[in-house]
Amino acid sequence: MSIANNIKAFNDLLRASQTQLVAVSKTKPNEDLMEAYTAGQRIFGENKVQELARKAEELPKDIEWHMIGHLQRNKVKYLAPFVSLIHGVDSFRLLKEINKQALKHDRVINCLLQMYIADEETKFGFSESEVMDLVNTEEFQTLENIKIIGLMGMATNTDDMEKVRAEFRSLKEFFERLKLVEKPNLEMKELSMGMTNDYQIACEEGSTMVRIGSAIFGARNYH
Ligand SMILES: *Cc1c(COP(=O)(O)O)cnc(C)c1O
Repeated sequence: MSIANNIKAFNDLLRASQTQLVAVSKTKPNEDLMEAYTAGQRIFGENKVQELARKAEELPKDIEWHMIGHLQRNKVKYLAPFVSLIHGVDSFRLLKEINKQALKHDRVINCLLQMYIADEETKFGFSESEVMDLVNTEEFQTLENIKIIGLMGMATNTDDMEKVRAEFRSLKEFFERLKLVEKPNLEMKELSMGMTNDYQIACEEGSTMVRIGSAIFGARNYH
């Protein structure tokens, strides 16, 4: 299978459920991204700021760049001029920094709050009560240069697919509850869940955005 064929196959698969495909291109060379681009892909996800910024500089300007990894506050400034969605917002301090940098560029940056849903110590993210506290603070409502448009979550890395399903389901339930909270900079539209190993379950449980890397580009070689 080629990258172009993989993109087409995913788009056919996802069209029915109207789920968006984020092509996760981390560690991959520009040629691989261009193959996906030529096949019609416009949304790419990266998890390292420097790599994302470099690729954005070198590749076509109509690509929408999504930051999907853990983001350090001191690096927000490199993405603020152009990033189209930040999936991994995992603290109020990070959100405030994104707001500050977005203001400098006179933009509103769309963000997803990363929820801690897995049974693993290494995963970043908020708990449900932390998010409820956050969105109800006075300060949150003063952040006019960010917009929270949804949630992101990563399930436990396990073969137990019923466990994965339960985690996605509880994220979807919280997403629905948060829809009822009315704030000017909060609008629950996107639920980013599902990767190569669990996207089918994620789609069944209501994902609107899947982040797929290896099933499109092949295994990653870290060096
Ligand atoms: C790498 C990565 C993915 C894609 O992983 P695959 O298993 O290769 O599909 C999705 N989400 C995040 C946050 C990632 O870091």
